[in-house]
Amino acid sequence: MSLTIPFDNSYARLPDTFFARQAPVPVRAPHLVAFNEELAQILRVTPGEVEDMAQTFAGNTLPEGAEPIAQLYSGHQFGTYNPQLGDGRAVLLGETVGTDGVRRDIQLKGSGQTPFSRRGDGRAWLGPVLREYVVSEAMHALGIPTTRALAAVETGEIVLREGPMPGAVLTRVAQSHLRVGTFQVFAGRRQVDNLKKLTEYAIARHYPQADGPMGLLRAVRDAQAQLISQWMSVGFIHGVMNTDNSSIAGETIDYGPCAFMDSYHPNTVYSSIDRMGRYAYSNQPDIAVWNLAQLATSLIQQVEDPESAVEEATEIVHAMPGLIQQHWLTRFRAKIGLTTEDEGDEALITDLLTRMAHNNADFTNTFRALGRDNARDQFLTPQAFDEWAKGWTERLTREQNPQAVMNAANPAFIPRNHRVEQMIQAAVQGDYEPFHRLNTVLARPYEDQPEAADLTHPPTENEVVHATFCGT
Ligand code: AMP
Ligand code: MG
Repeated sequence: MSLTIPFDNSYARLPDTFFARQAPVPVRAPHLVAFNEELAQILRVTPGEVEDMAQTFAGNTLPEGAEPIAQLYSGHQFGTYNPQLGDGRAVLLGETVGTDGVRRDIQLKGSGQTPFSRRGDGRAWLGPVLREYVVSEAMHALGIPTTRALAAVETGEIVLREGPMPGAVLTRVAQSHLRVGTFQVFAGRRQVDNLKKLTEYAIARHYPQADGPMGLLRAVRDAQAQLISQWMSVGFIHGVMNTDNSSIAGETIDYGPCAFMDSYHPNTVYSSIDRMGRYAYSNQPDIAVWNLAQLATSLIQQVEDPESAVEEATEIVHAMPGLIQQHWLTRFRAKIGLTTEDEGDEALITDLLTRMAHNNADFTNTFRALGRDNARDQFLTPQAFDEWAKGWTERLTREQNPQAVMNAANPAFIPRNHRVEQMIQAAVQGDYEPFHRLNTVLARPYEDQPEAADLTHPPTENEVVHATFCGT
């Protein structure tokens, strides 16, 4: 059998100004290290010989029907507008319509220079490729919208980062790679026709029920509000919530120096480049609103009557914090076993979080333990939990089956940062056993898997990862 991908491309039909036609740059000695068969089935991709797949997913051979392009976009990076970014180390091979009827992009990341590479080498090293593979698949298993990983190859070449590192290419799959920054680039250049075409395209592809630019804005807001509340509910920190990393489809995209929190603290930051803590855990809702405001500003430039559009856009954006808060409350209610609503619930939840922060309580393990009656062990001072638990136990008397609710809302397994780092170090030495083990266990995050209990442990002092480095 040979590898086939039933491409059905739409982005490559848009005007030439939307992208640069760019083939992936071949690599020396590709070696397939991962292939996601379950995802391949959804995409209608037929796997082929391992060697064939290595050549294709490295970008050395183009599968029939591929129309490789590097997409144009711009964006605010850490709050500062960069008028042109674009795929500097990625090419979109094309799209498929899956068995579920969903159109998805298939993109190679780390596939060589493009016209948008600026000073970059267009490459990726193995570490960030495997990190994105594991974390994006774990995210999917947690039930959180995300790009996914179809394949990973080692290129047999060295890339220079902090030192010489093994090169790699990730094949990633997204509902699309449209970003807030894709709208910003045309708005910034006052290319109203392109902006209109892009808006129509985004609506047709993602939100066919949306009515015009303001309908699109509302739909993106709703999707992003859900997404951010889901991140918060599992302790995920994206790390680089720039507008070019903010997906119109509402998926988690562009995994860089991201991480899941171990012990809970609202100000947690992992990214080595986020020195001011702009993208700290608890800032993520505000940043999502800020990013939506940038989308609003861009979309408005195509409307006939800007005054009333500004009013409508303002109202849409201003409603976002309340929406995130509402979703947050629903999710955290479930995390403490509540399905009914009571006025005091929010205070009960924030009181628990405050106590967790003061007691170095592990975010994931504390919530998981709530459904098992041993959460107090997670607190430096267990009495701090006991005091809280009085009100909680009282509140639970009005619930039917809180244990089941908590177990479905609180994962046992997340991709802990120290495990991800250990996995990368092993892979660099040629040992892929930890990589495969993480993928297997993280595919069922809500199930107790006693044989994998070690993966639930927070890092020891020696294992703590203080900073996570970017993919670049
Ligand atoms: P990211 O950090 O993935 O959001 O990337 C921000 C921008 O930098 C995007 O336009 C990337 O394509 C570009 N970029 C990141 N790393 C590289 C690289 N190694 N070579 C070329 N461009 C890069
Ligand atoms: Mg990016």
